[in-house]
Amino acid sequence: ADGQKSRIGLCGLAVMGQNLALNVAEKGFPISVYNRSADKTDGCVNRAEKEGLSSKLRGYKDLKEFVESIEKPRHIIILVKAGAPVDATIEGLSQFLEPGDCIVDGGNEWYENTERRMKEVQEKGLLYLGMGVSGGEEGARNGPSMMPGGSEEAYKRIEDILKPVSAQTDTGACVTYVGKGGAGNFVKMVHNGIEYGDMQLISEAYDILKTVGGLTNEEMHAAFVEWNKAELESYLIEISSYILEKKDDQKDDNSFLVDKILDKTGMKGTGKWTVQQAAELSVAAPTIASSLDSRFLSGLKDERVAAEAVFKSKGLAPADSKGPAPGIDKKQLIDDVRKALYASKVTSYAQGMNLIRAKSNEQEWGLNLGEMARIWKGGCIIRAAFLDRIKQAYDKDANLPSLLVDGEFASELVDKEQAWRRVIVAAVNAGVSTPSMSSSLNYFDTYRRGRCPANLVQAQRDFFGSHTYERMDMEGWHHTLWSDMN
Ligand code: NAP
Repeated sequence: ADGQKSRIGLCGLAVMGQNLALNVAEKGFPISVYNRSADKTDGCVNRAEKEGLSSKLRGYKDLKEFVESIEKPRHIIILVKAGAPVDATIEGLSQFLEPGDCIVDGGNEWYENTERRMKEVQEKGLLYLGMGVSGGEEGARNGPSMMPGGSEEAYKRIEDILKPVSAQTDTGACVTYVGKGGAGNFVKMVHNGIEYGDMQLISEAYDILKTVGGLTNEEMHAAFVEWNKAELESYLIEISSYILEKKDDQKDDNSFLVDKILDKTGMKGTGKWTVQQAAELSVAAPTIASSLDSRFLSGLKDERVAAEAVFKSKGLAPADSKGPAPGIDKKQLIDDVRKALYASKVTSYAQGMNLIRAKSNEQEWGLNLGEMARIWKGGCIIRAAFLDRIKQAYDKDANLPSLLVDGEFASELVDKEQAWRRVIVAAVNAGVSTPSMSSSLNYFDTYRRGRCPANLVQAQRDFFGSHTYERMDMEGWHHTLWSDMN
């Protein structure tokens, strides 16, 4: 490709950047690549050579040469650490970019940073896209789900590249113009929050099967394989089935690796942002919030070990798997847990979708919830067969107040409700915590109840703070002198 200009550029060649660049080259689009540290540029060029893609990918070690190697108007995807590194990268690139050129930030960026940068680069006549990319390194290489937001004009100019590069499904490519401003980053953030919820729900299902049901890893592996053939079919269930059967290569004793892994979860912040945004927008998202809390509690490993000893010394043993708990039928439990997991998952997505809608209304983004479900169907970490159903629910009624009341989802929840309760009850009785599954059930039970106990809270607020209350049988706001204490 020497002498010819590249169709697009990519700056930031860590895991995500290298893989996405190779993917773009493989789809036939000449691409220029650059990284702050030259070793990663060499690494990327070497990989392109090994994969027979060197005619489409050119590495640069000089920023000016990199920018000038790209066809005008230029489009440069940046995939560097979110935050200050993105600002530094934009500053560098802007020296050489010209009006009409476009920067596409593919990182997990806070949406307000994208909106700030959008304004800053606008002064130089540059266009901007904040594009969430999901699917990890495998997705980036073979087809991620991409959530671009910002300049629609810029999106249109590179749509022909993004479509074949993204994951392909029977309902189209997993990319769409999400909306104005930081909408793409916001949707990616909620995607990650939902991902936290899914992962926690699956880990609770595993805990119940293991601790309450006394299932072996082989039995759980078999259950997950079966689950992946029905309504729970998804990437996370699939990888969990592999995880459950993986032997510990470092030992010769036929033991399972998952049993050796320290029970402490890492995190990078998008789940926390999701929960913060839910609170800002007064949207209840207890499934996602409890999955975040579970990560915080997992971090207190030493405290948990010490607390276990405190209660053990007082005669309260921790939940521990010693075969099935009394009265538990393994087959029935597996079936119940499958249903509880699915019902909880639907409830979690209902919360996530409502969060996206609330933000869209606040920012006037006009987001299409069905399209969001569609582009999550492939490529990304939460890809799952049931996202089709979510799309259909919003296609039927774009103003559906909650997925829970979509006719089909409502019927399924009714079908699964008894199993859902049996699982939570069994877990509670065994002392096994199910924060996300039970908060999903609590959300469902609250949402489907016409009258909740908030009347008493209102009375208390009026009692101690004269906050007044409304009545169901009279107009207006009322205040009462409740007792001599007032
Ligand atoms: P990363 O570890 O987040 O970032 C490393 C890259 O950032 C390197 O290219 C590094 O350059 C560059 N960088 C760091 N500080 C810089 C600075 N001050 N100026 C210029 N460049 C700087 O890489 P990643 O895991 O590939 O992720 C890239 C983005 O995609 C992130 O926003 C991440 O959250 C998001 N993401 C990651 C995944 C995943 O599975 N890893 C999945 C989805 C989204 P040097 O080589 O010079 O240090």
